[in-house]
Amino acid sequence: MSNRSETPVTVIGLGLMGQALAAAFLKAGHPTTVWNRTASKADQLVAAGARLAPTVADALEAGPLTLLCVSDYQAVRELLGDLDLDGTTLVNLTSGDSAQARQTAAWAEQRGARYLDGAIMAIPPVIGTADAVILHSGPQADFEAHEPVLEALGTVTYLGTDPGLASLYDVAGLAMMWSVLNAWLQGTALLRTAGVDAATYAPFARLMAAGVADWLPGYAEQVDKGSFPAEVAALETDARSMAHLIEESEAAGVNAELPKLFKAMADRAIAAGHGGEQYPVLIEEFAKPSTD
Ligand code: NAP
Repeated sequence: MSNRSETPVTVIGLGLMGQALAAAFLKAGHPTTVWNRTASKADQLVAAGARLAPTVADALEAGPLTLLCVSDYQAVRELLGDLDLDGTTLVNLTSGDSAQARQTAAWAEQRGARYLDGAIMAIPPVIGTADAVILHSGPQADFEAHEPVLEALGTVTYLGTDPGLASLYDVAGLAMMWSVLNAWLQGTALLRTAGVDAATYAPFARLMAAGVADWLPGYAEQVDKGSFPAEVAALETDARSMAHLIEESEAAGVNAELPKLFKAMADRAIAAGHGGEQYPVLIEEFAKPSTD
């Protein structure tokens, strides 16, 4: 195609996210075919120029590229059923785990499809802007062939050939998100006991989170080398400050479960002889199955 916006695209699944994806393709000028189990969810998109396919098979035939965005991988399998997938490239942006992604990739490829798995690290209102980060994994040539079209959705990134990678990055991002939020709530609960409200503490918490985030590249080097010299602080020093956080929380009458979890992991690493090393040595605890 000489003009990338002439490339036809199909979107299957028109929930909150699928509607945003189809709207972004329409806005970028792509002839856009849509299908949804509940057809009425296509009304606004049809008014904006989309074509509503009568069946999934018809939707797949509308062009070389089909995006899937439904509730889960089970729904993807049910939708595609025993349809002919020969010659189709599927980009599955449905959330799931890496095993589901790998199994669905193998299943689709056995049936003649090219398959990329994806993870959307954004909410529907930002789809179509650079703030919408969308991760992809699977065959590189297939990603590169469709990258100019996928760019209508936001900042598209390719992670590697293993189709499970997008899902793994997705859950790794969730670990980061909940850790930051829980740490902020712990501090907020403590400060509220002294009459400091959440809005007053939030800018300081934000500075702390950003400052700690700046440590990550250097700490990642230690993890990758498997060498943890205590350049800034030893783990046993950190463990003493964790004890302080637990004591302060208990004295203030706020929940101390989270700091106790931090300290239990640090104590195990210290018992294993790592007390004189730096914090990232805890990767050895995180890399093991949990004890409970
Ligand atoms: P949603 O609004 O609940 O929509 C779910 C969609 O899946 C609907 O189109 C629904 O069809 C369809 N569906 C479910 N089961 C089906 C089945 N058995 N057969 C056919 N269609 C089926 O969800 P959403 O927010 O659009 O999320 C879709 C995917 O995007 C999820 O995997 C979600 O984790 C991911 N995601 C969402 C967000 C977000 O902020 N919304 C962000 C990142 C990733 P009906 O309309 O007929 O029910």
